[in-house]
Amino acid sequence: MLNFEYQNPTRVIFGKDETKRVGKECKKYGEKILFIYGQGSIKKTGLYDKILSLLKEEGLLVYELGGVKPNPLISKVREGVEICKQENIDLVLAVGGGSVLDTGKIVALGAKYDGDPWDFFTGKAEPKEKLPLACVLTLAATGSEMNRNAVISNEETQEKLAVKHPVLFPDFSILDPVNTLTVPREHTVYGIVDIIAHVFEQYFHPVPETPLQDRFAEGIMLTLIENTHRVLKKLDDYDARANIMWCSTLALNHLIEAGACGDFATHQIEHELSALYDIPHGAGLAILFPQWMKYVIDVIPEKFAQFAERVWGISREGKDVKEVALAGIERTKQWFSEIGAPVSLKEVGIGRENLERMAEHATRLGPLGYTKKLYKQDVLNILEMSL
Ligand code: NAP
Ligand code: FE
Repeated sequence: MLNFEYQNPTRVIFGKDETKRVGKECKKYGEKILFIYGQGSIKKTGLYDKILSLLKEEGLLVYELGGVKPNPLISKVREGVEICKQENIDLVLAVGGGSVLDTGKIVALGAKYDGDPWDFFTGKAEPKEKLPLACVLTLAATGSEMNRNAVISNEETQEKLAVKHPVLFPDFSILDPVNTLTVPREHTVYGIVDIIAHVFEQYFHPVPETPLQDRFAEGIMLTLIENTHRVLKKLDDYDARANIMWCSTLALNHLIEAGACGDFATHQIEHELSALYDIPHGAGLAILFPQWMKYVIDVIPEKFAQFAERVWGISREGKDVKEVALAGIERTKQWFSEIGAPVSLKEVGIGRENLERMAEHATRLGPLGYTKKLYKQDVLNILEMSL
């Protein structure tokens, strides 16, 4: 196990109908709220009206920033920062999926910075402080509700980049599974792929002697797989949604990585795809992950065999380690396909035209990953394998 320091300051309020606490909890941070949301799902589900009336009941002054799109844009962040500065906002409240939460994080950060918020993504500025941030999650996927990451796209440069910094932890997040009952099937599936991909990123590493981290990770994967079957049978199954929601938070709140390590190369390659083609993050991950696994299998064959055995129940009897490991990877790909995620670039209409450009951009600051360092040619190989 590696040495580590672990602190997670986000207060989580989890459970059925806990959304009702949003007004009172927000009021603890001041009077002026910037309420950020996406492209309309919360208006259809009634959550928008509910939150607005809970905020108003507490006498809060509400400003709004709606229209955040999936693969959220820096231009929308800039709009939010402007409102915060002009109106002296006390608290940013992000209500939505990862795109809205990530927008909220960078709006809150940009509000306390004199320059352009994109500076945090290029390394020109280092995060120091942000406005208080509250989240109400409506889609289980990213873990953004309890982590220090945010991913934003820049439409001018066609880049999608991440900032990772402890300042970005939300102050509190309301995780009310009821708010996820309306997520359509396809986004439910993309969210599930993102969750398991986060676990993969922190499980397939070469650090020895991490039995507890491994079992945490396997516990999340097994729970997620079981509940995926339940939720796809009945999209409004509360208990399945609740279990998936907590899996999503624990998959990327840095706990399972402590003492082990994160690779995240597949995420970085995926960001190239969603930057250029605007495909859902989970779709890109389902396509890339089985190919990354095959590409790095020889670094940690035993770990892949352990995964095959413990997560997919594949027997080792009569097989060598590599055979078992490969069977686990094949089963993963098949599962993605079964639940309705794409497993090739062709399925999402992407050909070879930009593979070289994406490989070049992904590695412009150096090789990716930890389990196996991936240089431009390696990334290109993985992309070609994904065709
Ligand atoms: P999302 O982009 O936030 O939302 C996807 C779609 O789901 C939107 O069209 C949204 O509609 C809809 N939706 C959300 N909640 C709904 C509900 N309750 N009912 C009906 N529709 C609903 O999806 P996401 O997967 O959570 O976030 C993806 C983004 O997060 C990507 O940019 C990805 O790169 C990033 N990401 C961040 C992290 C992190 O740690 N910060 C980790 C992984 C990925 P509306 O717009 O109408 O609301
Ligand atoms: Fe992700």
